Amino acid sequence: MTEATKPDRGRLRIDEEECKGCGLCIEACPPKVIALSERMNRYGYRTALYAGSGCTGCGICFLVCPEPGAITVLRLVSPGATRAAEGAAA
Ligand code: SF4
Ligand code: SF4
Repeated sequence: MTEATKPDRGRLRIDEEECKGCGLCIEACPPKVIALSERMNRYGYRTALYAGSGCTGCGICFLVCPEPGAITVLRLVSPGATRAAEGAAA
């Protein structure tokens, strides 16, 4: 099974109004499933955008993001069940 066909183990939420488009999460994400959006938020920043699949739920993007509240990672623990990953990398 390739990385692309594996089921997601995490789900990413990005608050576009909190994101400053610094790109740290994009660089840090191991499977490279985050990109910069073409759209700008109201502060003029291009914001991070989740590709929509392939998240492992590792929480690294959450840990490197300097903007509190910009990223939330939900780790999928079983079908239909999630747990907030603030600290889920622990
Ligand atoms: S939790 Fe890990 S795999 Fe998922 S988007 Fe963040 S850094 Fe990438
Ligand atoms: S690290 Fe945070 S502020 Fe920087 S691009 Fe990613 S979500 Fe936005």
